[in-house]
Amino acid sequence: MQSAHIKTPLPGPKAQALLKRDALVTSPSYPRDYPFVMSHGKGAEVWDVDGNRFLDFAAGIAVCSTGHSHPAVVQAIKDAADEFLHISSDYWHERQTALAEKINAVNPMGEPVMSFFCQSGTEAVEGSLKLARYVTGRSRFIGFLGGFHGRTMGSLSFTSSKYTQQKGFFPTMPGVTHVPYPNSYRPLFAGEDQGAAVLNYIENVLFKANVPAQEVAAILIEPIQGEGGYLVPPDGFLQGLRKLCDRHGILLIFDEVQSGVGRTGKMFASEHFGVAPDIMSLAKGLGSGLPIGMVVAKKTLMEKWQRGAHGNTYGGNPLCCAAALATLDLVDTQYRANAAEVGTYFMNQLRDLQGRFPCIGHVRGKGLMLGMELVEDRSSKIPATKLCDAVVNRAFHNGLLLLSCGQSTIRFMPPLMISRTHVDEALAILAASLEDAQNQ
Ligand code: PLP
Repeated sequence: MQSAHIKTPLPGPKAQALLKRDALVTSPSYPRDYPFVMSHGKGAEVWDVDGNRFLDFAAGIAVCSTGHSHPAVVQAIKDAADEFLHISSDYWHERQTALAEKINAVNPMGEPVMSFFCQSGTEAVEGSLKLARYVTGRSRFIGFLGGFHGRTMGSLSFTSSKYTQQKGFFPTMPGVTHVPYPNSYRPLFAGEDQGAAVLNYIENVLFKANVPAQEVAAILIEPIQGEGGYLVPPDGFLQGLRKLCDRHGILLIFDEVQSGVGRTGKMFASEHFGVAPDIMSLAKGLGSGLPIGMVVAKKTLMEKWQRGAHGNTYGGNPLCCAAALATLDLVDTQYRANAAEVGTYFMNQLRDLQGRFPCIGHVRGKGLMLGMELVEDRSSKIPATKLCDAVVNRAFHNGLLLLSCGQSTIRFMPPLMISRTHVDEALAILAASLEDAQNQ
């Protein structure tokens, strides 16, 4: 199948010319899967430089939450740019304070919070880790296998969704111990409840045999694991983790960089589980595409940071704050509910598709953070990695932008404003791409 919107074989001539120039001067380290060269976008649609139109179900890795170039976000950025482009975090300005007030008003932790501003997810994680060490005076951390938290040295020491992210960079930050993320589809422990088994492992194996609990500053976890495969933890797991942390005076950090800001149909994924963290990292969807990250923490913790303990140059950039304020407004009033409603429809349609394609082993997720794991066959559950790559590639050629995660999971993270019509179009392309890839 080739979409009516794809006019030239891909990559087209203009895309090819740019790829050629780029290969000479740009780092080859970017994990690029297919040659999409963007010209412009509107909502959930994007066009390449050769005039081909695609549906964007990757949204710049879950960033373009309000869709490409939402007029209200663009206007907010323009208004801010007319006033000033930068002042540095040594000073104050209205939009930065308003954004911290807004996050406090959203009440993510059931008690007052304070915010630290930065530019990216990895930096938000670094800030969260530094805060945890600073306020506890403890040095160790626990992270989760399959987790992704960024690629700077501190966050990289937790990142473990792909071996290539680590290879060649050792040593990273010492003191991080990884435990399995509970995965009911691929259980590592005996028993039905993988969440309880992981908690038992931390408490009764790790803390007894290797890691003194009183030396652990924090446990860092994605409340829904992103790059590791769009895994939703079993009921009770995050509640149990909260209790475990409280028993040992350990802080709980939720990395909501991918799952936050309406992506799962709630403002933060943690709300699905009724668990509040002590510290939360935000970025991606927060700025609709402008680079902004935040460390949000209980006021009782962040107020302990002394002057000069942590800072940066660009944190709280006025254009980024303007984009985030407009984004939060749209997500709060419209798109969070849309993500829940359209996400449920999408999930049901994917489950129907599973009935037609035996290679779809598992469909999971919340809101518009949905994953479809491909397997060689449903009994062995061997990950169908090549098929997954082929489907993503075919989907591109058929006019749909997708990304994978885990070993063989296709993830769907479209802008939060998509309609059922967009979903229907994407599903038709997806089904055709599955057929194409299986026939290859
Ligand atoms: N944390 C999570 C959960 C992420 O998904 C990512 C990026 O994919 C990051 C942190 C790192 O964000 P950035 O790429 O902005 O540094």
